[in-house]
Amino acid sequence: MYENDGSSEAWQDDANCLGVDPDLFFPERGASTREAKEVCRGCVVREDCLEFALRNGEKFGIWGGLSERERRRIRRQRAQAVRGETGA
Ligand code: SF4
Repeated sequence: MYENDGSSEAWQDDANCLGVDPDLFFPERGASTREAKEVCRGCVVREDCLEFALRNGEKFGIWGGLSERERRRIRRQRAQAVRGETGA
């Protein structure tokens, strides 16, 4: 989904989704995310991508192989960890 427009972060040069149809990563509500996640699975910069999305509060699309909802869960878990809660 990424383009080399000169403004991208270094890790995006190694993105598995370079040139892949962005629609795959921003599916309609309720549409399958399987194909996008499969592209992410083989991506060497998955961690960088996920951290980028978490850092920037990306609300839409598949980033680092995770959906919006899955990223929200990570953000919540991290926030709990910072507060010293176990979440149990
Ligand atoms: S993890 Fe997925 S969305 Fe992120 S750069 Fe890799 S292929 Fe693209």
